[in-house]
Amino acid sequence: MYRCWSCGRGYSETAGAPWRCECGHALDFADSSAPADTAPPELDRDRGLWAFEDVLPVSRGVTLGEGWTPLVDAPEWDAQFKLDYLFPTGSFKDRGAATTVSQALELGVDRLVEDSSGNAGHAIATYAARAGLDATVYAPADAKPAKLQAIERTGADLVRVEGDREAVTAACHEAVAAGEGWYASHAWQPAFFAGTATIAMEIAAQREWSVPDVVVTPVGHGTLLLGAYRGFRALQAAGWTDAVPRLVGVQAAGTAPLVAARQGEAAAAGGNEAADGIQITEPARREQLLAAIEQSGGDAVAVDQSATEEVSDRLDRAGVSVEPTCATGPAALPELRERGLVGPDDDVVVALTGSGLKA
Ligand SMILES: [Zn+2]
Repeated sequence: MYRCWSCGRGYSETAGAPWRCECGHALDFADSSAPADTAPPELDRDRGLWAFEDVLPVSRGVTLGEGWTPLVDAPEWDAQFKLDYLFPTGSFKDRGAATTVSQALELGVDRLVEDSSGNAGHAIATYAARAGLDATVYAPADAKPAKLQAIERTGADLVRVEGDREAVTAACHEAVAAGEGWYASHAWQPAFFAGTATIAMEIAAQREWSVPDVVVTPVGHGTLLLGAYRGFRALQAAGWTDAVPRLVGVQAAGTAPLVAARQGEAAAAGGNEAADGIQITEPARREQLLAAIEQSGGDAVAVDQSATEEVSDRLDRAGVSVEPTCATGPAALPELRERGLVGPDDDVVVALTGSGLKA
């Protein structure tokens, strides 16, 4: 059963279910995925993120061994990095693609349709190929060529759309409405967030069931931040952990709707073309993201292009090869420390979400 967070309407979990509520809001699984046991179980890490299958609302249908990305010290940043670019397709989107395509199999879907600036499309296309399903991916014509080629090599149909990221989404929605296939959207499908919630479970498990004070993630549609929030909440509800970290969403200056909502347009102004993976002016789950940030005691921060490029170079020289979009996370730390959102003794985990190899 899916339920609308905003108006409470319910929808059955079928391939024909709408991908959003009649009221326009995104849907979620009606049942919480809170673990039933009061003590953390022994986890079989050979199952990848499916080690957490018992507490996920989706059963494993397809896997490439995704999950358990390393959590490493980053002394230069006085933080820990969660290396979420170490996935089969080189981005954290595989967490949600594994669960979304697993659900597509369960529902008997033949063709998946997705719109993406690159990484989510590559992840959905790859897991569809692994599962033997067809896929169509809508992407900006000017997306990184390496990302577009990676999508095409899976055998998926790639539709290059001229215009901005919103034009890509509009073209995709039109195709879904015309019956092209099941909308396997990383922004809208509830199953995607079941997958991204596993980052919280891994971080907690890797820290022996202690949670950091702050978790920093880049935010476009906010699939990782919202998934992390839900995962940390579920762990706390089960009594496996005793707190939810303050969640900080990092956006690109000039395309920072959450920053604008919290701190005003001036704080969100500027430009950052280097962060091409998070150029989302209207996140599908804007209200849920703002609520997660507020309830966790975190915030949203905008990072400009020069800081992104500078930190991207520093990361490469520190042996961490990520795409420039994810450099926004570490690049936000000085402002977070200056504003007191991160204190001198706080434990900070920064998620590094996309590989430099596709950039
Ligand atoms: Zn609704």
